[in-house]
Amino acid sequence: MSIISSMTGRHIAVLGLGKAGMAAIRALRRSDAVILAWDDDDATREAAFDEGVPIVDLRDHDFGDIDCLVLSPGIPLTHPAPHPVVEHATKAGCEIFGEAELMARTDSDASFIGVTGTNGKSTTTALIGHILREAGMKSQTGGNLGIPALDLDPLGREGAYVLEMSSYQLDLTKSLVFDVAVLLNLTPDHLDRHGDMESYIAAKKRIFNGQTADSVAIIGIDDPVSRKIFKELTAKSEALVIPVSAEGEAKGGVYIENGKLINDIEGRREKILDLRAVLALPGRHNGQNAAAAFAACRAAGLPAPIIANGIRGFSGLPHRQEPVATIGGVSFVNDSKATNANATAKALACYQDIYWIVGGEPKSDGIESLAPLFKNIRHAFLIGKAAKEFDRTIGERIATTASGDLAHALDQATALAQADLADNPAMEPVILFSPACASFDQWHNFEERGIAFRKMVLARAGDPDTSFDDTALRNAAGGMA
Ligand code: ADP
Repeated sequence: MSIISSMTGRHIAVLGLGKAGMAAIRALRRSDAVILAWDDDDATREAAFDEGVPIVDLRDHDFGDIDCLVLSPGIPLTHPAPHPVVEHATKAGCEIFGEAELMARTDSDASFIGVTGTNGKSTTTALIGHILREAGMKSQTGGNLGIPALDLDPLGREGAYVLEMSSYQLDLTKSLVFDVAVLLNLTPDHLDRHGDMESYIAAKKRIFNGQTADSVAIIGIDDPVSRKIFKELTAKSEALVIPVSAEGEAKGGVYIENGKLINDIEGRREKILDLRAVLALPGRHNGQNAAAAFAACRAAGLPAPIIANGIRGFSGLPHRQEPVATIGGVSFVNDSKATNANATAKALACYQDIYWIVGGEPKSDGIESLAPLFKNIRHAFLIGKAAKEFDRTIGERIATTASGDLAHALDQATALAQADLADNPAMEPVILFSPACASFDQWHNFEERGIAFRKMVLARAGDPDTSFDDTALRNAAGGMA
């Protein structure tokens, strides 16, 4: 566990006592800092108090005696309005930063690999971590994904921390410099929290802050905003800037051509591997993730064949097009992480004979944008609060069944897929649970929803799934967008 000796004896306020806040408190305690902690939620505060955390109502506190405020990434720094404690701290001239910034201030000589982007952060972070581990490199993976940075085990000079960084976390960093920084893509998201697209872009660009001639910047160039950042950085940054594309050639970078990953970093256009054979990374979007991970691991000094082996052996993250089982020729795929139409589009593009289980708490932009992919859908099974609305959107273009809940949808989809397969053995039926909705109408979060689907499928496969560890799954898939 890391120590931050610069914090010893200093008075540190910590606002937000979730995963990141508690990790900060543990590190500050190890470093003998004086801690004043607060969370607006009664239950969270009490749970922290029970663990011996010194609780002080920071809303009424005089910040004159406080050196800095460690803010959880979920708490508004600026938008829609700064949290009252943030205002208080700002007025008192107090430094404000997040847990990841504290990580930068630990007494560690290890290198840092950071991954951000609107989509694909968790997959790419996990993939880089997997490749480094398989190659025998000392590394630790966490941040927004799974284990908070400060809870990761200490690493020496030869080790690497692979950190998923959300835009909220990046907003709260100051001196954290990534030796290898990855920006996958940038499309509008979380604008309520950042105020506007400009501020969201500015937050994401912070992943490249402070990079020097020894650093490497890796950028997906398949969307206009990221392409512009790539051009800016190529012109201005001292770092080696590597472009990544899943759409076409990326000169001097890594790209996907006819399903194959091509490395042109050294200008040799080497074919590295055929991604179509890697079942855990289906679809074009995963091509971008794999290309970025390849570039990051090359930057970390690994030889190309070792990286290729690592990619081949990756088993994927739970709830993201996770293959669960194949029963009687019918495949079952858990894509519970698809909480909006954009994410579902990626999955619908990957299969031909889809029996689609869709619905939950609907998002405001609905699912009309998925129309070009309806050709891949044999039947839609509608569940949850969105069922009626979705039926109005798609009912005239796709065969639908109002299934009510997930268990009924699964039974109905299985029966229909098996019957269709018996009539047409050339089919490759996939029962795809890609809700395009939030989970809150029936579950606490997408992980719980995906676990429910997985258990139901495995029970139907005759596997009671007794060894299935929910906690590990939750930890592996945790984190905010
Ligand atoms: P994040 O951590 O950024 O939310 P994940 O790796 O958890 O991303 O993937 C979440 C969903 O985003 C996936 O299920 C897929 O639908 C979509 N996705 C993954 N990678 C990409 C990508 N590179 N570009 C666009 N969409 C992606």
